[in-house]
Amino acid sequence: MAVARNTPTASFLTKSGNMQSAGCRLCRIARAARGESTDGLAAETLGHINSAGCEGMATTVTAAHHSIWRHLHDSMHAAQKPKSKLKFVMLDKESNMSTLWRREEFLRICSKEELAEKVQDIELTISIKERQEAQHNLNPESFFVNRFWGRRPDGVAINEALQIEYILEFQQSTDRDEGFLE
Ligand SMILES: [Zn+2]
Repeated sequence: MAVARNTPTASFLTKSGNMQSAGCRLCRIARAARGESTDGLAAETLGHINSAGCEGMATTVTAAHHSIWRHLHDSMHAAQKPKSKLKFVMLDKESNMSTLWRREEFLRICSKEELAEKVQDIELTISIKERQEAQHNLNPESFFVNRFWGRRPDGVAINEALQIEYILEFQQSTDRDEGFLE
């Protein structure tokens, strides 16, 4: 159905005239359970219900993401040649760009200032999510740099011999664009 683009999402059913509202039914249930308003629901597209942006699916989508990532990470480990200089850094729940860049092994390769300068322009091109808007309006000047330091990479690998740090992110196409496969 995903390939044929005929998954009976609210968005699809509304377009074909079989439903009144494209608002996500899973988000509606999740909000109603919390006693919150169900106004302004996101459109229930296939991309939306497969993303952590869907309030009804967030836990499941996040668990699937972690599970696939663990498998990929283990596969990368297993595929390493004995001579490989690549070292995978163990991350925990507290690990974000800010805490990682307090570690000696990271600072030795690239200072915090250098990194902040390099990512500045890239961060500006990444759109502000709805849930980030309040934070952005509060302090537009520091929003982008703070958002960067708060990012939690899925994995990090270091090659000290070549002086390269790899920030590893696993994303499905649906993570990037909620309008994917409408
Ligand atoms: Zn939803």
